[in-house]
Amino acid sequence: MRFFTGVGFNYLILVLFVGITSSVQAISFTEEEQAYLANKSSISMCIDPDWMPFEAIDESGQHVGLSADYMAEYSKMIGVKIELVKTSTWSESLLKAQARECDIVAMLNSSPERSKYLNFTKPYVTAAVALISRSDVLFIDGLAALEGKTLAMPKSYIYEELIKRDYPGIHVIYTSNQQESIKLVSTGRAYASIGTQITLLRDIQLLATQNVKVAGFTEYKSILRVGIRNDDPVLLSIFSKAVDELPAARANEMLQRWYSVTVENKIDFTLLWLILAFFAVSLFAFFMRLRSVRRFNEILSEKNVQLERLSQTDHLTGLYNRLKTDEVIKSEIARADRYGGSFSVMIFDIDLFKQINDTKGHQVGDRVLIQMSRLVDNNLREPDVLGRWGGEEFMIVSPELDAGGAALLAEKLRVLVEDYVFPEQVKVTISFGVAEYHMGDSPNVLLSRADKLLYEAKSAGRNLVKVA
Ligand code: GH3
Ligand code: MG
Ligand code: MG
Repeated sequence: MRFFTGVGFNYLILVLFVGITSSVQAISFTEEEQAYLANKSSISMCIDPDWMPFEAIDESGQHVGLSADYMAEYSKMIGVKIELVKTSTWSESLLKAQARECDIVAMLNSSPERSKYLNFTKPYVTAAVALISRSDVLFIDGLAALEGKTLAMPKSYIYEELIKRDYPGIHVIYTSNQQESIKLVSTGRAYASIGTQITLLRDIQLLATQNVKVAGFTEYKSILRVGIRNDDPVLLSIFSKAVDELPAARANEMLQRWYSVTVENKIDFTLLWLILAFFAVSLFAFFMRLRSVRRFNEILSEKNVQLERLSQTDHLTGLYNRLKTDEVIKSEIARADRYGGSFSVMIFDIDLFKQINDTKGHQVGDRVLIQMSRLVDNNLREPDVLGRWGGEEFMIVSPELDAGGAALLAEKLRVLVEDYVFPEQVKVTISFGVAEYHMGDSPNVLLSRADKLLYEAKSAGRNLVKVA
């Protein structure tokens, strides 16, 4: 079974169960078992001297921890004293068990290797097997993620056999206890360490190690049983009965006592903060992008306005260019066709303008063109449109004005220009061709009529208005 459940939040999630029936009846031993127990003055026991809260030997040489409570119960149930054989490492305890210096091993996982010298009862405690690493490792997705990396673990722990079998690619560094393994992780000499979650958490707390955390879980479970020397089948059947018949309520009391001491009510919010930070950064990037897109669109529409203005105005004078003036004429035709009424066009051309350029220079010619634009524009009615038709030729479109009205306006402008003194004392005159729109005229027909009249004005001596 694989039971990785995430990082940090599962400090409190301990997978354990108690394999005990809740019978309170006295154990019924066989005659053989009764005789055995009557002859046995004490049962010798080895434990892990440094594996709290499961078990340990304290400073005064006493057996403490969860297995001490269980063994006290079992001792009462079978009516024989259980005596501790002192050791200083777990490896030493297992060596003593092999040498038959202890009858039982209080709490351990079964394995083929251990079965060479021990029999096992049913499990009585089960615990999750976790992986720890430095806090900067986000999480470890099971033991497979450790291939090629270093893993520190106490010598003779059950994981030694399991990892050799299942993950030979992991580089294992053996230590004499779990705290030493944690120190190797903390100082970076090992990438990770393995152990039951509850003992790892306790030792991390005891060492006050700040930079180590539970980073993941393994598919293994610590399934803890009593180990009985395998040359003593009667003792196995006695202990099996004791394990089977310890009341569940009593077992739970013991588990509560030892787990609550160990498990600090601390929740690791690191991952939550990381997720929140990620969303904050994403949101910020999104709004920045939105802002720049909006700014870009603003620039784009500004440029479009500029472009439109440029496309319809004359560079030199700022008047409508020929293209735009042409559009105005077309829309006036459409308007006249739809609502009736009429309008007129007036083409005027500066007389003998070439001479101005030739005598005063092109720049003076330009200034005359600019001044001419202002002069004429300032003297038009509000609805009239003035455009530069090309070179020194201009076009006036006068809505609602018939030929007679247009001729009067043209005459007024002709006199105005004739009297006006342009920059550099330049004096010029203009000639007009004036034509009124007639229903059905195409723009070309209308314009060529005006053009022809302008030509007539020129031929007739210039400084004249010719009207159809
Ligand atoms: P006419 O009375 O027959 O119209 O004589 P004109 O000299 O005005 O006519 P012509 O077509 O022979 O010459 C037009 C001149 O207008 C020639 C050209 O140099 C000048 N011109 C056209 N556009 C510009 C301009 O943008 N700036 C300047 N300075 N001169 C221009
Ligand atoms: Mg001219
Ligand atoms: Mg001309």
